[in-house]
Amino acid sequence: MSRSSAIAAVFLVTFLTCSSPAASRDYGVIKNQNSPLAKLKSVNLGDVKWTNGFWADRFAQTRDVTLPKLWELASDPEMGHAIQNLRIAAGLEEGEFAGTHWQDAWVYKWLESACYINAVTDDKELGEQIDEIVEVIARAQQPDGYIASQTTVRGWPRFEQPHNHELYTMGHLLTAASIHHRLTGKTKLLDVARKTADYVYETFKGRDPKLADFPRNPSIIMGAVELYRTTGNKKYLDLANFFIDWRGSRYGNGRRNAWASPLKNGSDLNQNWRPLRKETEVVGHAVFFTYLYAGAADAYMETGDSALLAALERLWTDLVTKKMYVTGGVSPEHKSHPARSFESGKLTTIVGDSIHEGVAAPYELPNDTAYNETCGQIGNLMWNWRMLAITGEARFADIMERTLYNSILSGIEVDGEGWSYTNPLRWHGSEHVLRSQDTHKRSYPGRRMICCPTNLMRTVASWHNYLYSTDATGLWVHHYGANVFDGALENGRGLKLTQETDYPWDGKVRITVDAVEQGQAFSVRLRIPGWAEDAKLTVNGSVVQADCKPGSYASIGRRWTAGDVIELDLPMSVRMIVADTRIEQTRNQVAVMRGPIVYCLESSDLPDGVAFEDISLPGNAEWKVRHEPDLLGGVTVLRTNALAIDKNARHDIGGYRHVSGVQWRPIEISMIPYYAWNNREEPKMTVWLPVRW
Ligand SMILES: [Zn+2]
Repeated sequence: MSRSSAIAAVFLVTFLTCSSPAASRDYGVIKNQNSPLAKLKSVNLGDVKWTNGFWADRFAQTRDVTLPKLWELASDPEMGHAIQNLRIAAGLEEGEFAGTHWQDAWVYKWLESACYINAVTDDKELGEQIDEIVEVIARAQQPDGYIASQTTVRGWPRFEQPHNHELYTMGHLLTAASIHHRLTGKTKLLDVARKTADYVYETFKGRDPKLADFPRNPSIIMGAVELYRTTGNKKYLDLANFFIDWRGSRYGNGRRNAWASPLKNGSDLNQNWRPLRKETEVVGHAVFFTYLYAGAADAYMETGDSALLAALERLWTDLVTKKMYVTGGVSPEHKSHPARSFESGKLTTIVGDSIHEGVAAPYELPNDTAYNETCGQIGNLMWNWRMLAITGEARFADIMERTLYNSILSGIEVDGEGWSYTNPLRWHGSEHVLRSQDTHKRSYPGRRMICCPTNLMRTVASWHNYLYSTDATGLWVHHYGANVFDGALENGRGLKLTQETDYPWDGKVRITVDAVEQGQAFSVRLRIPGWAEDAKLTVNGSVVQADCKPGSYASIGRRWTAGDVIELDLPMSVRMIVADTRIEQTRNQVAVMRGPIVYCLESSDLPDGVAFEDISLPGNAEWKVRHEPDLLGGVTVLRTNALAIDKNARHDIGGYRHVSGVQWRPIEISMIPYYAWNNREEPKMTVWLPVRW
């Protein structure tokens, strides 16, 4: 072959390799390519495939274990038979409704997850299963567009009780239908979603105050924006904005029997005391507020309403600096009262209001009674993803990472088929006093179908879509995990690269440019996590002049050639973390982190004869790091010398002892990632340990 024909052949191969992904546009979890205020655009869901390691394992487990398990549970009469409810509503079988009011959303989130997975695996049987359930959903829809088996099967009136979750389940339908259409090209479910959204629009457009309680768990906002992005019909964006604007109208408090309640005029529970644009503090139920803020960020991307963005910035700072756990958990309280700050010397909260499953007062972050419903953290991840798209600022990706690796993954057993609703940071073993939704083992689903398992599944099943974005200048790399990206830049030019890494256990990331239009100039930005001091960045072995400041994006602008290699080294030293001293529950204690992972101590890892509560860490602890592939699905374990209170000095005056009577003896302890806690025999567990400086 002559040199010119060889070059032509290489060009042809490169051209074909690079052009094929751009030809198919399935878009991302959020389709923001045309959103005027999105600085960063999602890549296509089909552009990224896991290759090996932490996330490839979890994706495979989701496909092989979790997806079939959650389908099986959705059909289980003991669990509430979510599929049967829809089949009965569709007239396909006889029977009674069973289970919780929000189970239709279980099916919609299962369907959304199945679409993400099948876009990668292309499993014919799974494709048929998706088609079958779409058919059932279509038939379950009422002629006017309403769809909610929890009311229709029972013959209950529509919109009688907010707790019936009708708008919540329909909101998830809009999201699932948008994803289903983009990934399969089919229109049946999208037609159902349009009809649903049209119905909701007609029902709520008159702003009847008696309906103000119903959008309390506002998945409908994100769903309506996504339907607008998918169909181009602006009516659906108006619908989303309508629900945002209605918040804070002081109509509705989101409760059962709201109209019989003395609290007719709004509540902090559902963020309905003050309009969102004027809100200064995060209040109320964690799923309600994170879904509201995520939906509002979606709306901002389309409308550019600067008052909305300013409010979201204020609320983000309030949450992250005063109301969030080190694990990323965002709901400290099972039940509480509103705890607004004093404004102009006057408490602005509502007397008699009560909150559940939400934030508490600033800096009030109890460990053993923490609620931290997994869905709240998923809502927070979705909100931060949208804020990242709007701003391109690494602090939002940092929160996503902290939340995902700690207080989201903690919601699923390492075997992929057991769940917990709550994610406390301290557990007293079999003696732990259970509060609402706590369970001794990861036994959910066990009593009834809950929202978290399918929400967690769709997050893991689509996590590959959160790794990269594009802007007019090039590619952004937000998160790390071994994968192949085969997509295109915003100018339509193809780009293929391979990311090799053992993240989150190792901070070395190697990105090889496999195919690119020869000599094309663009930037690659890599996130330097906020925890990563002294990160090193090279291209083809040479140190690049890029600012590797923690909590920023290091930008490499150059002309790229196939075969170029970027190497990023994020040092993963073990870090002992102290909290803001205004958080009383963690004062004079430390948490331990390595990379993005928060660690915990379980009683099962203590030597015999040592009481769990007696352990302290020395302030100068030295750590040994070892990866144990056979432990808890493969985890990196930390070992160190700790201190235990000598038994002889315990409790010499009732429950108390004079400080001079306390003696210490050295012991060795090992700590495991917090997300893997409670996977062996039920242990005592703590994230925070007392420290002896
Ligand atoms: Zn949940």
